[in-house]
Amino acid sequence: MTADNLDEIPVIKAIDIESIPPASVQRYWLYLTSDGIGTPQYIPVIIVRGINDKHLVGITAAIHGNELNGIPVIQRLIGKIDPTKLEGVLICIPVTNVPAFLRKQRDFLDGKDLNRIMPGNQLGNESDIYAYRLISRVINELDYLIDLHTASFGNINSFYVRANMNLPDVAQMACMLNPQIIVHKKSEGTLRYAAEDLGIHAVTVEIGDPNRFQESMISNALEGILNTLKGLGMIKGKVKAATQPPVECDGSYWLHTNQGGLVDVYPELADFVEQGEVVARVYNVFGDVLETYQAPESGIVIGKNTYPVNQTGGRILHLGIPVD
Ligand SMILES: [Zn+2]
Repeated sequence: MTADNLDEIPVIKAIDIESIPPASVQRYWLYLTSDGIGTPQYIPVIIVRGINDKHLVGITAAIHGNELNGIPVIQRLIGKIDPTKLEGVLICIPVTNVPAFLRKQRDFLDGKDLNRIMPGNQLGNESDIYAYRLISRVINELDYLIDLHTASFGNINSFYVRANMNLPDVAQMACMLNPQIIVHKKSEGTLRYAAEDLGIHAVTVEIGDPNRFQESMISNALEGILNTLKGLGMIKGKVKAATQPPVECDGSYWLHTNQGGLVDVYPELADFVEQGEVVARVYNVFGDVLETYQAPESGIVIGKNTYPVNQTGGRILHLGIPVD
């Protein structure tokens, strides 16, 4: 397919699995909203309907418009799935927040974070309606959801999963993704939380850094998703345990500076830090140390700031507190 015949892809307003021939791969433009000159805004949807409808698994990427690693994960996943052998249905959205993606930014057109306002509101403002229609037209159909993210601008992330580990099916999914770290979190307003409210087993997967493609992160996430589909009995193969089991955390938080200046953060991603260990210093522009920051408790570095220019209150690192 070339750019010339992209317009041959059918436009739909809702997902109708029954209308899709079994054992086939289909591409669609799903209409969500329209812009200021009345032009429809579509999101791309790829549906692989297997030989039965055992489970409906959704995989979404780029709900934050500059979080790109999930896009090739989905593209490569589709290339690896044989629809004549798949048991179940995959509904994949390689770019979920299209307006933000086109503007190379995280947030929606009205400055709202789509992953903080879920499940949206059908009578709300621009972002509310976009969120509401995404949920009611796609997410609502699913049994499982894997929502792919990265760190935000200026930060980097390990390969980690956020999940409600109190739910056994969700905990199992989180483990089968074979991440470096699993963080137990509820996180109201997120797509994951809204999906969970609808009875969908949902996890968020954080795949490294924003604004770029990272080969090792992309292949780890792809392997993790294939492993999960094996675990759900949708594709053949043995479920692989991680060579290094994930570090499970029952909480996490960001450390922030309380002094502006240039910040230097020392630990690497997935490093363990001890309580009291120096993790960062803030300098003024002449090179004098203004403040030194220590880990308030022992934990693992889930993510960190890599952008040195730091306003008072800027991020230092995302500390995970491992389960005892
Ligand atoms: Zn994100």
